[in-house]
Amino acid sequence: MDDCIFCKIVKGQIPCTKVYEDEYTFAFKDINPQAKQHILIIPKEHILTGLNDVNDDNSYIIGKLFYAAKIVSEMLGIDKSGVRIINNTGKDAHQSVQHFHIHVLGGEDMGEGLV
Ligand code: AMP
Ligand code: ZN
Repeated sequence: MDDCIFCKIVKGQIPCTKVYEDEYTFAFKDINPQAKQHILIIPKEHILTGLNDVNDDNSYIIGKLFYAAKIVSEMLGIDKSGVRIINNTGKDAHQSVQHFHIHVLGGEDMGEGLV
């Protein structure tokens, strides 16, 4: 996707603070952190926009994203204290970037709200 900001980040066309990458996934710090640690983990390829696109053929990527989240949490030292993982899909969730991503939040007590 030529005009996708996250595709540009993967290609190095837009700077980011990269945390991790593997064959399938790319992880970087959110520019507007909502917790002490706030990492975005995305598929390297723009194969999904949101949850509605997940199907039997591409659902493996969700597991890859969660596996990357586990590795990143360990790297950042927040795995033991706890993490919150969020995906925003669509209007009501205020999804702002149409390249599937999970938010990994942690590094502090995030309370009981949402969720
Ligand atoms: P969402 O609202 O779930 O679509 O989340 C998109 C996230 O991307 C937001 O938390 C933004 O702060 C983050 N974001 C947007 N542009 C950038 C960027 N250039 N580098 C890092 N994070 C970004
Ligand atoms: Zn993209």
